Amino acid sequence: MAYAIKKPGRTVADQSYVVEAVKGLGVTFKRFFQNTIGPAENRKTATIRYPEETREYPERFRGVHRLTHRVDGSPRCVACLCCSTACPAQCIYIEPAEYEADDPRHGYERYPRVFVIDELRCIFCGFCVEACPCDAIRMDTGTHVPASWKREHFIFDKETLMSIPGKDGTYVTANPRHEPGDPTHPGLDRDKAH
Ligand code: SF4
Ligand code: SF4
Repeated sequence: MAYAIKKPGRTVADQSYVVEAVKGLGVTFKRFFQNTIGPAENRKTATIRYPEETREYPERFRGVHRLTHRVDGSPRCVACLCCSTACPAQCIYIEPAEYEADDPRHGYERYPRVFVIDELRCIFCGFCVEACPCDAIRMDTGTHVPASWKREHFIFDKETLMSIPGKDGTYVTANPRHEPGDPTHPGLDRDKAH
């Protein structure tokens, strides 16, 4: 059965909204002065002065990518394209190339002549890191892509990706596989063609 809901009574002050607006402004100005010129211990701000101040990220935070190094400073990457194939956002572009003929890696491994990640398209899923057989790409930098006003600043090339250290400040990682030329390497003997 329908019934009428009684309307609440409102005073003239309520209906004009002036008193409530002044109360609201009072809270706004109180917080403004408290957080700008008041003593630091009384400030109540949810924000920080980024980029001068930064927050500590959780241990498992997936930071911006980096390409890891071998001990000689060359990229650990062998340009196998596993990461770009696994990438659901299709934001990794690689152009593989062969090492020089006198390099022991010639014929066994390739290197990325071009390696580009479009950090704007990346969804930071970490699939590329999971797919890599060489521990050549990591997201353990502990930082995010810096803010910029230009799209091209988010296109990270090989040199940029190799210039970013891990959270511990290191660039080199151990190869989970054997290096070509390793005496314990059970791989192919190309001269004997087996
Ligand atoms: S984190 Fe995911 S989306 Fe980003 S480059 Fe790697 S695979 Fe692609
Ligand atoms: S980063 Fe790893 S998965 Fe990607 S191309 Fe290089 S070796 Fe392959």
